[in-house]
Amino acid sequence: MKKTRKIPQRKCIVCGSLKDKKDLLRIVNNKEEGILIDESGKVNGRGAYVCKDEACLKGLRKSNKLNQAFKMKIDDDIYEELEAYEVK
Ligand SMILES: [Zn+2]
Repeated sequence: MKKTRKIPQRKCIVCGSLKDKKDLLRIVNNKEEGILIDESGKVNGRGAYVCKDEACLKGLRKSNKLNQAFKMKIDDDIYEELEAYEVK
């Protein structure tokens, strides 16, 4: 039998592959708090997704994709946090 339940998919901003939301880490630009790593997926704001894997997390700084996604300069703190993110 064919599965009909649709799992929401999002695109990784680094490698461009389409994945289930749960396999991606959401980064959000929240009005009050600025750029955040959103583990709950529920924080308000414009979001960008990246694979929960080392290559893509570390590729963010090099590729400048986060700056492009949010059209702003991203603090080094955010990159450090992302690079230190523990892939489960
Ligand atoms: Zn990726």
